Amino acid sequence: MDDCIFCKIANGEIPSTKVYEDENWFAFRDIEPAAPVHVLLIPKKHVDNILAFDEEYNKNFADFFLVVKKIAEQEGLKESGFRLVMNTGEKAGQSVFHFHAHIIGGKEMGWPPFPEDK
Ligand code: 5GP
Ligand code: ZN
Repeated sequence: MDDCIFCKIANGEIPSTKVYEDENWFAFRDIEPAAPVHVLLIPKKHVDNILAFDEEYNKNFADFFLVVKKIAEQEGLKESGFRLVMNTGEKAGQSVFHFHAHIIGGKEMGWPPFPEDK
């Protein structure tokens, strides 16, 4: 997509701190980290978010969790664990409309995520 900042990050037009890349995936550090480790994993092939998936597009995600696992291991998160977040839609906090998974770790994280809502 021409005007998508994450497409531009994946193709190198916009610089980022890369942590992982293969034929289909690109991962880089979030510019405003919410934790000591905060990586964004994106597919190179643009899709807005999960609500835009169809059966054909979903084939690109066959290895998604294995890539997440590889990055988590590479980032030293195996012992501590990590959180995988995919904000889907504006009201859920999505601000960039190119699918991305936040891989967040390196600190203690509470649950539920919004204790003020209890
Ligand atoms: P969302 O709010 O859509 O779930 O997450 C978007 C994330 O992208 C935010 O955490 C934000 O800090 C990050 N972000 C936005 N623009 C850039 C950028 O140009 N470079 C990097 N590395 N991260 C970005
Ligand atoms: Zn894009």
